[in-house]
Amino acid sequence: MKRKTKAAEDIYAKALDIIRKAGPDGILQKDLWKILKVSSREGSRIALTLEKRGLIIREPVAQDRWKTFKLVATSSDLKVSLETVEGCPCFSCMNLSRCGSGQHINPENCEDLTAWLLKDD
Ligand code: SF4
Repeated sequence: MKRKTKAAEDIYAKALDIIRKAGPDGILQKDLWKILKVSSREGSRIALTLEKRGLIIREPVAQDRWKTFKLVATSSDLKVSLETVEGCPCFSCMNLSRCGSGQHINPENCEDLTAWLLKDD
């Protein structure tokens, strides 16, 4: 289970590295998903988490007839406040030790985590 948790963290780090390397122009989220070889659902969750952590900004853009997001890294000098993770349900979750990507209980399908990520502050 630890390997899967580490793999999940690795994909966040890889996504952030790609977004940072895209510079101030950022990268379209669908292009990032292709590079990472993840589904749009999983990719959206990665972007939402990185945004919640204050590491990226998601800017809405129109492409063709579709609305999508451009992902731009925030300054690497930015200090991330603990307030950005305040209220995260994982910290008090009784399933934390059993939760992991690819497990029966997992962040991808967690309604509590999704509600927290989508909550307006
Ligand atoms: S993702 Fe959901 S189930 Fe997993 S630890 Fe967080 S709150 Fe618990």
